[in-house]
Amino acid sequence: MAILVLGGAGYIGSHTVDRLIANGYDVAVVDNLVTGHKAAINKKARFYEGDVRDKQFLNSVFDKENIEGVIHFAAFSVVPESMAKPLKYFDNNTGGMISLLEVMHEHDVKKIVFSSTAATYGEPKQIPIKETDPQVPTNPYGESKLAMEKIMHWSDVAYGIKFVALRYFNVAGAKADGSIGEDHHPETHLVPIILQVASGERDELTIFGDDYDTPDGTNVRDYVHVVDLADAHILALKYLQAGNDSDAFNLGSSTGFSNKQMLDAAREVTGKPIPATMGPRRAGDPSTLIAASDKARKVLGWKPQFDDVHEIIKTAWNWKQTHPKGYDDRKGNK
Ligand code: NAD
Ligand code: UDP
Repeated sequence: MAILVLGGAGYIGSHTVDRLIANGYDVAVVDNLVTGHKAAINKKARFYEGDVRDKQFLNSVFDKENIEGVIHFAAFSVVPESMAKPLKYFDNNTGGMISLLEVMHEHDVKKIVFSSTAATYGEPKQIPIKETDPQVPTNPYGESKLAMEKIMHWSDVAYGIKFVALRYFNVAGAKADGSIGEDHHPETHLVPIILQVASGERDELTIFGDDYDTPDGTNVRDYVHVVDLADAHILALKYLQAGNDSDAFNLGSSTGFSNKQMLDAAREVTGKPIPATMGPRRAGDPSTLIAASDKARKVLGWKPQFDDVHEIIKTAWNWKQTHPKGYDDRKGNK
């Protein structure tokens, strides 16, 4: 039987497809390539190009494939864009989840692993953040993902569709051999932006604020390597395959690094000066986000291999150096 990966051409999805195949799974991918790259999909996976919201298309994939479970990455995830265009986020993210669950229900597929996010918690009341802490998103992106968690909950109650919501903290890095990596346009994440400066593609990094209540005044975040994250999805699938109940798990390292510390680490790894200036705060940035991730370790048996941000940055730098233009499939690059 196959695992269907929705959004498998994206950054985290492509690494998960790769790990699924390395672990012997039969994999089908659905992606509309709105932000993903066909070249990122492992060639052993069957690829269907189309939109999750298109029920006719999705039904045809479920008819063709013998699907045991679904892993869902297909969403928009740029916070400032979601503030400006909330309906785009509720349509694609939340709307896509409704179509998917309808089709899963019609085809009697009962397992889903879902990309959720620390953004569902909003501004935390305590650090580290536990799964049971209040979820009060501060932007439409986080709200769209929280709504998706709730829709899955009620679909479990009504139809017995079991889910695992994996709430990622900050994801970075690339497959060690540099064959797949992060390629977003525009890029908004800290690590790839720092590496764009290191490679000369951008003049300098702007650090968004140094007046936060943190040791050096810059935001503190919890970084997890993309391959460790991918492996957590396989463990979540096994958890559902074993007949366990729906649940949510944080995925982070439980260690915080400030934006200044990340910059220093990248200077060490790359040996480049990486010019940086201090800018104003970015709207909606919580001061500190650190996950309590002992539940994933205890219940899923998750054992992240990367516990040092230098090693995480090293893999992203390897990808950047071997793929200066990313997958090179954008208009204007051909
Ligand atoms: P990405 O943009 O690289 O991947 C998303 C993929 O989904 C893309 O390939 C895109 O083409 C596809 N897609 C989007 N809408 C679709 C639709 N309607 N139909 C079919 N395909 C569609 O993003 P990513 O960084 O890999 O993130 C994946 C998931 O993880 C997202 O859902 C995001 O919310 C979540 N997440 C990411 C991070 C992070 O740091 N990158 C942190 C927390 C949560
Ligand atoms: N950041 C920054 N400059 C940039 C991009 C990001 O200072 O050009 C900061 C951002 O304000 C946050 C941290 O880096 O404090 C991580 O941001 P990212 O967008 O990578 O992830 P987020 O924490 O928003 O999910």
